[in-house]
Amino acid sequence: MRPLIAAALALTFATAAAAQPPAQERFGANQPTSAGADQTKALEFAGGRIFQATGFGNTFLVTTKAGNVIVDTSLPTNAARHHALLTAVSSAPIKDIILTHAHGDHTGGVGVWKGPGTHIVEQANSVEFRNYQVRLAGFFAVRNAAQYNAPVGGLGGGRANLNPGNYAAPPLADVLFDKEYKFKLGDLTFDCLSAPGETPDMLNVWIPELKALFIGDNYYASFPNMYTLRGTLTRPALNYVQSIDKVLALKPEIVLPSHGVPIVGAENVQRTLKQYRDAILYVHDATVRGMNQGKDAFTLMKEIKLPKELEVGEGYGAISWSVRGIYEGYAGWFDTDPATMYATAPLEAYAELVRVAGGAGPVAARAEALVASDPALALRLTSAALAAEPKNPAALTARQHALEKLLAASKNSNESGWLHAGLNKVEAARK
Ligand SMILES: [Zn+2]
Repeated sequence: MRPLIAAALALTFATAAAAQPPAQERFGANQPTSAGADQTKALEFAGGRIFQATGFGNTFLVTTKAGNVIVDTSLPTNAARHHALLTAVSSAPIKDIILTHAHGDHTGGVGVWKGPGTHIVEQANSVEFRNYQVRLAGFFAVRNAAQYNAPVGGLGGGRANLNPGNYAAPPLADVLFDKEYKFKLGDLTFDCLSAPGETPDMLNVWIPELKALFIGDNYYASFPNMYTLRGTLTRPALNYVQSIDKVLALKPEIVLPSHGVPIVGAENVQRTLKQYRDAILYVHDATVRGMNQGKDAFTLMKEIKLPKELEVGEGYGAISWSVRGIYEGYAGWFDTDPATMYATAPLEAYAELVRVAGGAGPVAARAEALVASDPALALRLTSAALAAEPKNPAALTARQHALEKLLAASKNSNESGWLHAGLNKVEAARK
């Protein structure tokens, strides 16, 4: 998962007492790789034992009397900058690299940190999780590029559209563990705990001496991206809930997410993470209730809203995508309409309807009329019009207007990314 963090804010939160700003202030527009780019000094926490280099994926350095430990390594594009910021704090040898999960914005800098005696620690599900990502490398490369408005491979993935095999990811870890892996280094204990949430291989790191917990991507300043549009299995809501409950029971005084800034103060941690957990549980339970009542996914996407006290922002994940993700995560794709059983795509039927309606022109005109009041419906109509006549100028223009209207209203970076991608396709279709 790859939240977009506003670069300019990175340096503002160096002090322990910093209050949490609203989510929308911490998520920038489409600048995925630039978070923290202007950082000149590592952020310092836990009485000068933990340091953060900020990025699209933070890198953390923990100092001990017997050497240093790195938690997460960011994207390849951030690795050299993070290395410079953190080695300016301490140049002691790196004894261990702990990777909270096997997403590229956490593992991309391993090469710059690993020395001859460095151990890499991961949760055991990282093996299959990495294979899954490599298996679908071509699929993800194109989708990541669209979502993040970047060139294909430009986020550090860089893989060709080939499947090198079903189990082809090269191994990375020296230590793989199932539930827990605890080790002592110098004066600190590193308790690595399996914490499935955003990914099945997520781990949290608890340092009891500092009452510090690294939560990986199981928390960031937005409702979680429980279903990500770039493509994923739905990330099980109840996994997040259980993993966050385990964090709460440890009573940390600081929780360090791999995107954004730490949650500081025992009470603040409890309040923030309880609200986050309860928001996830609310959306899950409301979806399950609706499913048991026989409601369809689209109805529930419209119906389910968080109560005011559980609003955690939707700058990255969105409630409606999570609702559909939970629904289809439990039930799969079949919607009970017998038509859905067959390979005839909805767009094939749309095109027939458009022809019956007199062609793309009249449908485009109706779409244009709907842009102001219901741009999402207008967008659907242009999909239909273009299914019949892919180059119809009026349909392309109506589609552009619908996308622009939705973009102007969007406060979600992933939504904005895909709306931009849609506009790029309109532009390409005009050529
Ligand atoms: Zn991430």
